[in-house]
Amino acid sequence: MAYKISDECISCGACAAQCPVSAISEGDGKFVIDADTCVECGACAETCPVGAPAQE
Ligand code: SF4
Ligand code: SF4
Repeated sequence: MAYKISDECISCGACAAQCPVSAISEGDGKFVIDADTCVECGACAETCPVGAPAQE
C-alpha cells in the first residue's frame, strides 16, 4: 500500500526532496503523495521530522 501524509505535516518539503520517484508534491496545507507513483520505499517516513508519512 502506498504511503500517505497525515495532517501532522508542517510542509517542510524534506520528504519531497528524498522521494526517488517524485511522488510527493505540495498540496493544500500539507504535502501529498501520489499513490499511483509511490513505490513504498519508506524514505519519506524516515526523513519527516514529525512522522507524518505512514502506510495505510
Ligand atoms: Fe516516495 Fe518512497 Fe515516500 Fe513513496 S514511500 S512517497 S516512493 S519516498
Ligand atoms: Fe510534511 Fe513531513 Fe514531508 Fe515535511 S517531511 S513536508 S512535515 S510530510
